[in-house]
This record gives sequence, structure tokens and C-alpha cells, in this order.
Amino acid sequence: MKITRIETFLVAPRWLFCRVETDDGIVGWGEPVVEGRAETVRTAVHELAELLLGEDPTPIEHHWQRLTKGGFYRGGPVLSSAVAGLDQALWDIAGKRLGVPTHELLGGPVRDRVRVYGWVGGDDPSQLADAVAQRVASGLTAVKMNASGIMGRSATPRELDGVVERVARVREALGDDRDVAVDFHGRFTAATARRVLPLLEPLHPMFVEEPLLPEHTHLLGRLADSTTVPVATGERLFSRADFLPALQAGIAVAQPDLSHAGGISEVRRIASLAEVYDVQLAPHCPLGPIALAASLQVAFATPNFLIQEQSIGIHYNRDAELLDYVVDARPFDFPDGHIHRTTAPGLGVDVDEAAVRRADEHGHRWRSPMWSHADGSFAEW
Ligand SMILES: [Mg+2]
Repeated sequence: MKITRIETFLVAPRWLFCRVETDDGIVGWGEPVVEGRAETVRTAVHELAELLLGEDPTPIEHHWQRLTKGGFYRGGPVLSSAVAGLDQALWDIAGKRLGVPTHELLGGPVRDRVRVYGWVGGDDPSQLADAVAQRVASGLTAVKMNASGIMGRSATPRELDGVVERVARVREALGDDRDVAVDFHGRFTAATARRVLPLLEPLHPMFVEEPLLPEHTHLLGRLADSTTVPVATGERLFSRADFLPALQAGIAVAQPDLSHAGGISEVRRIASLAEVYDVQLAPHCPLGPIALAASLQVAFATPNFLIQEQSIGIHYNRDAELLDYVVDARPFDFPDGHIHRTTAPGLGVDVDEAAVRRADEHGHRWRSPMWSHADGSFAEW
């Protein structure tokens, strides 16, 4: 079997898919994207494709080594995401070739269903209770919210009260049998984060995500030591080497993104490294159906898995939804807040190729919002 063609598709709302075709008719799909930098990653995918065209897709690890290290310069979001999408497609092909789901090739299932959470926003507190009610009605047992909208990096007492009040509203709407996670997006300074986390302790968040920016990982240890709130991070880390200092600092939850951190191959290894630190895996995934399918394959086979993000109904998805690109939506149903294990071959996602090709004709120009503080200076989104 040889790889004969590699295509990419720029599809709304803000995604990039890749399609890897082989000479015996098996096709693998991947989702190589950095949100807001999709065209850049697209170029990287086509550069890396030179290493795969004409090759046997079977030796995935051999390809991963060459794709990741073969250009001398390595790592970072763009290259690691390009590799991630191609890696997903190779694992899809591997499963389809043998007629088994990819998780069978990762050692087999360790669970029958995967708990998932949905977003409830959080920038506008007046809509929170309704958003939570909708999520609970859809079957979810956990939600994630932003701690705040735009605010100073050193928050005023009133702003701090606002953060606590938002989380308290969600906790009240959820009751004590469900979970809320809180995303800080690195909007506070380390000093302010140390002040906020103890205030949230009585509300028992499942975790607080990115309390510090990735460039401040060297300050994470003091923060983790100062609170009982489990600290999560990782959507902007791209390899085992990137995760090591965060794990050593005492995070509780690792959040690699299957489309950013080197794909199934590297996230499996990040999970294994995390296990040594008694850290649980909660992959980041505000992305499309292929990234979610790849995440689920890892979740089915990973012992220290906690919960999976999924983007159905997320506020970013304006022009298209995850389910617009699949023939069969059932593999993504979560009737009891969990997605149940599929035995379909490969990643287990039946991509609607015609819909993908149509969407690519329009493409997209999605960019991260650019925020400013009241004085005009740059603000973290
Ligand atoms: Mg986040």
C-alpha cells in the first residue's frame, strides 16, 4: 500500500481537514489546524506531505519521527499541528486496513464510554443559568465556562466578586452531582490567580484551566501549592517535553489537543508521562469531528483519562457545526453525558466528503478576537 494523494480542506467555522489517499482505495482523515492560523498550517501540511507521498502508510512511528524531526527545526504550534493531522490520518488508515477501531491498536479499550463536557460561555453572566439548563437537558453532566470577560490583569475587588458570582450561579444551577470547570485563559497575573483560586475552593470546580499563560509555567508550582483547586493546562503545549515542567509543577489535569500536540502518537505518550505524576488527561477539543474522533480513540484506550471537551453548540461555531461534516452523527451522541464506544474501523468517523469539498470552496478567514484594555493596550482574549 502506498500513499498517492494528500489534500487539505479549509472549512467553516475555523477548521482545516486533511485527506490521505492510498493506492488500494483506503482513505484516512485528519484535522491539522491552529485556530486563526489555518492557512499557515495548510502550507506546512503540504510541505510535510513530500515525506509521505509514495510511502507505505503503515509504519506510523517511523513517519512521525521524520515528520517531526526531519526538518531540523521542530516543535511549536504550526509544525506540531501539521504533524498531528497527518498522524491522525495515518492512524485512521491503520484501523481501516485491519478493520478495527484505532483504539484496538493502542492496546484495546479500558472503558466503554467517555464522559464529555460542553461550553456555557461565561462572558455574559445573565445568560449562564439558561445555558447550563440547556446543557443539562442535553444529557451533559459537566460544563466549562470562562471565569470572566475582559478585565484588568490585576482585578479589582468587584471584578473578583464577579468571577466568584458567575461560578456560584453555575454551581447552583448544576447541583452537587455535576461538575463545572473554569477557564482563566491566562487573563490574570500570577499574583491575581493566587488570590482568585482560594475564593473558588468552596464551589469545588472540577479544575481551573490555564490559570497562567504557558510562558509562565515556571510560576505554576507556587500556584498549584497555594490552592486545593485542581490546576489544568496544556492546550498551548505541543509535546512531552513541553508538558514535563507543568507536570513537575504539580498540575492535576493535562489538556493536550489531539490536533496540536503531535496527534494520537504524541498524546498517547503525554498521557503516559502524566500517569507517572498522577495527572489525568482531559484533551482540549473546540474543533471538528475528526479531532473529536481522534480524541475519543485515545480516551477509550487511556487509563488516566478524566473527561473530553467537545464543541457541539460552542459559541465559536457560527457558520457550521461539527455534525455538518459527518454522514452519521450517532457516534457523537451523548445521551447520558457520555459518548459510547464505537467499533467502527479507524477513527470511527464517517466524513461527508461532498460537504467538506463544498465548504472548502468558500473557506474561511477566522481569526482570534483581538481585545484591548481600557487604556488601549493589548488584552489576553
Ligand atoms: Mg482553554
